[in-house]
Amino acid sequence: MPYHSGRHTLQIPGPTNVPDRILHAIANPTIDHRGPDAAALTRTCLAGMKKIFQTEAEVMIFPGSGTGAWESAVVNTLNAGDKVIAFDGGQFATLWVKTARNFGIDVEFLGGDWHHGANAEELAARLQKDKQHEIRAVFAVHNETSTGVTSNIAALRRAMDAENHPALLMVDTVSSLASIDYRHDEWGVDVTIAGSQKGLMLPPGLAFNAVSAKAAEASKHSTLPKNYWRWDDVRVQNQNGFYPYTPATNLLYGLREAVKMIEEEGLPNVFARHKRLSEATRRAVRAWGLEIFARNPAEYSPSATAIQMPDGHSEVDFRAVVLKNFNMSLGAGLGKLAGKVFRIGHLGSMNELMLAGALCGVEMGFELAGVPHRKGGVAEAMAYLTASAAA
Ligand code: PLP
Repeated sequence: MPYHSGRHTLQIPGPTNVPDRILHAIANPTIDHRGPDAAALTRTCLAGMKKIFQTEAEVMIFPGSGTGAWESAVVNTLNAGDKVIAFDGGQFATLWVKTARNFGIDVEFLGGDWHHGANAEELAARLQKDKQHEIRAVFAVHNETSTGVTSNIAALRRAMDAENHPALLMVDTVSSLASIDYRHDEWGVDVTIAGSQKGLMLPPGLAFNAVSAKAAEASKHSTLPKNYWRWDDVRVQNQNGFYPYTPATNLLYGLREAVKMIEEEGLPNVFARHKRLSEATRRAVRAWGLEIFARNPAEYSPSATAIQMPDGHSEVDFRAVVLKNFNMSLGAGLGKLAGKVFRIGHLGSMNELMLAGALCGVEMGFELAGVPHRKGGVAEAMAYLTASAAA
């Protein structure tokens, strides 16, 4: 790519923009990971992450990606042959299930309509048939990044409780944590899975599990092979601020700063900002005359919007035009949506003018790429952002 002046516009739904404050924090000199400064750093990060997960339960931090956090949840709690329910809601749900199946877990997929989130009634009906309580866990993706659809986790918990079902509830919050209201304790989640590179505004490289007492108990009876992800090893070390291996020290500096920034803004304000930017995006999409992939407004994602391309037009070509002309990256169509949808990320370190610039790039890109649309999407977004601005 030839040099483009100005900043690249990173508008994918993660990894997200890393603010200068966090970049500077990461640039601190690397320290002895077995020394007192490292111990204090880890303890501060663990305490901070409890607030972000809205939990009193234990949190573990691993050097790793979201896929590692899935694997950690699976290998620490389940056994080969265990039955698990998951919802076929998108590419990340599919990949999580693949992870579990690779460990011999017997996963049953419910749903299958990627336009909608996990269906609590369907779950209740399935659990009702499980008189022997053979189902050991329910997997749900809070925000399916490939489709821009959220799932109602509290409703899933209610469905499980209504059936008095003892399965563990495991939730992927890779693209919702610190962007969309998420409550590990209040919603009775047993294992929450997260990564650093989205709402937390960090580069990729940290993976998280928040673990309920029930999941911790299940981990005592899990016989799946594990080493790197072993909760009992990590727990013992973490209590003193250490790890069973070399942690990603500089990312922990970044994490400490990220938590500080989120606390300064206030979690409720962070969630409200994401909602507002996503609403502006959807208004632009409707004005362009294009279709939002998510069908149920109650499930619209505050962190990413997936937009259907008009028939006969590929998102791959469109995104290439936008990248070449305006130096902006938009999210690709993933899995069975490849070629058919593109995604606008509006999560993490994002504000009105960054979003407005991105929407300008999309509208100009439609014109240049010959994608049929109506003009005026940016104007609609601006009108909403103006009308909803704080007085
Ligand atoms: N889960 C969701 C919802 C995601 O969006 C992603 C990645 O984008 C993952 C899991 C996998 O995370 P990673 O790519 O960090 O392994």
